[in-house]
Amino acid sequence: MLLEQLKLAAEERHARALTRRRRIAHTACAPHQAVGEADEARAESLLTFCSNDYLGLANHPDVIAAFAEGAHRYGAGSGASHLVSGHSLAHAQLETELARWFAPYIPHARTLYFCTGYMANMAVLTALGTAGATLFCETLNHASLIDGARLARADVQRYPHGATGALDTLLAASTSPLKLIVTDSVFSMDGDMAPLKALLALAERHDAWIIVDDAHGFGVLGESGHGVLEALGLASERFIYIGTLGKAAGVAGAFVAAHETIIEHLVNTARPYIYTTAAPPAAAHALLTSLAIIEGEEGRQRRAHLAHLIALLRGGLSQLAATAGWVLGDSDTAIQPLIVGDNGAALALSAMLEADGIRVGAIRPPTVPEGTARLRITLSASHSEADVHRLLGVLADAFARREAA
Ligand SMILES: *Cc1c(COP(=O)(O)O)cnc(C)c1O
Repeated sequence: MLLEQLKLAAEERHARALTRRRRIAHTACAPHQAVGEADEARAESLLTFCSNDYLGLANHPDVIAAFAEGAHRYGAGSGASHLVSGHSLAHAQLETELARWFAPYIPHARTLYFCTGYMANMAVLTALGTAGATLFCETLNHASLIDGARLARADVQRYPHGATGALDTLLAASTSPLKLIVTDSVFSMDGDMAPLKALLALAERHDAWIIVDDAHGFGVLGESGHGVLEALGLASERFIYIGTLGKAAGVAGAFVAAHETIIEHLVNTARPYIYTTAAPPAAAHALLTSLAIIEGEEGRQRRAHLAHLIALLRGGLSQLAATAGWVLGDSDTAIQPLIVGDNGAALALSAMLEADGIRVGAIRPPTVPEGTARLRITLSASHSEADVHRLLGVLADAFARREAA
């Protein structure tokens, strides 16, 4: 019975061009990556525009060396959860360094390292979103924030994308003793940004807190790569900040930065923190090197190059989108969505690019709303200008072929 049901569901997915399949990478995360099947002989090198390795640190020699050094010093695994015996010096050093970064933006900041951003979001929303509290959630929030809100005992109210007026109304009508605004900073499938300054004004007016997920801003935004709070020049005790460390920082894990009292509460009560084995200390050790690169001159240069590539890509894409009838999302970040609409059309375009040696993910529902299937093009500082020109050329060809067909 179960198997028949699941087979039916799979057929339905297939009919709607919603089947997902995994590809196997044979080499490191980099613009040119060998991708294929498990058979070594059947991999081809593709020019990829779909990772979130925005600064190109996932394959950086210094980060790799630090990872190896960390493994030699601390071993391969942590052996236990943080509260038992898995908390290492590397984890502690990482938290101390991040606390230094966040001191200017969050008074009395302390930080807490998690295995993944998904778990950090589950932890924050369940530990703070207790019965009686209300979570005010942006509709385009990342799945991990949505799942955290589902698991929390708090009431959940949603406000439309970017709609600060609607949020103001909801906050004004709420009698909840604990109001928590929950938002992505950079929206993961659209690349646009939350109006964080306006959200902070609302939080102050209505005595609310702001849980902000900067997965796509940390390392990339701000003069020193400290993320969205640095970029927008915002500072407040009301921020509960989540940064992830598997994207621009190139390794794995995530952290929460918040007032020390909040962090102490998470250490003692957040189940996704307490009941899981600590991430390998080597990852934390490697991240110390990532952070040094992000904050230093090399990070500055990588961000400047990335900004240059974003402008180059947008210039070409906006012309192409206008003639092709695609919609280029309104994004200034490394995430550039080319909205095609139909699931099958997005898949076909992605397949056409792959036939020409370029890998761009087709993103379909439920990750994005129905009717907004898209190519999610992401850029990295390790791309070259020539890489971007090649993508634009191949997209123009794909469009020309579609017209001819
Ligand atoms: C990737 C992502 C996460 C999850 O982070 P992981 O470390 O990959 O689990 C959370 N929020 C947003 C907005 C993301 O894009």
